[in-house]
Amino acid sequence: QQTDISEMLEDVADRFSFQIRQKRIHISTVVHKDVASAWLDRDQIDQVLGNLVSNALKYTPEGGTISLQAVKSEDGMLAISVRDSGIGIPKKDIERIFERFYRVDKARSRNMGGTGLGLSIAREIVKAHGGSISLQSELNEGSLVTFTLPLHQQRGSEG
Ligand code: ATP
Ligand code: MG
Repeated sequence: QQTDISEMLEDVADRFSFQIRQKRIHISTVVHKDVASAWLDRDQIDQVLGNLVSNALKYTPEGGTISLQAVKSEDGMLAISVRDSGIGIPKKDIERIFERFYRVDKARSRNMGGTGLGLSIAREIVKAHGGSISLQSELNEGSLVTFTLPLHQQRGSEG
């Protein structure tokens, strides 16, 4: 359905408002004018955003920042990114991070809860919608996950 992107990003932040307040996380949302709205499957994309923001919150210490941003990519897609100032991911783990059940060493995620499925589910949903997802990270500095989606209704899709 036709979706207001600012509203969608603010809604996801609202869903986590308790944890955001509890960890004194600063959260910001920026949406560029040329991607103010898009045709997308709201339930599915909410799940992608929920998984990414939940990770950002889990792996960012108290007082950190999370930024949500929507821009138009060079190839005319909607590009949504979730950036955090958290613990980051070691280089050697980045390429495997979208695999099912893959988690960066058990010691650090043992007490975090979760199964290691969030990112693989996010990738499946994004792929099914004709987009792609990627992750950049610097250990102890933070992570940036970006996914793209078509801005307009695709031929043959019911949306
Ligand atoms: P689940 O999402 O099923 O609750 P999970 O968060 O462990 O569990 P994923 O979301 O798939 O699983 O993430 C896989 C692993 O990638 C995590 O266990 C964590 O080690 C690492 N990771 C994911 N996002 C971040 C992030 N923003 N910062 C640091 N590490 C991350
Ligand atoms: Mg997760």
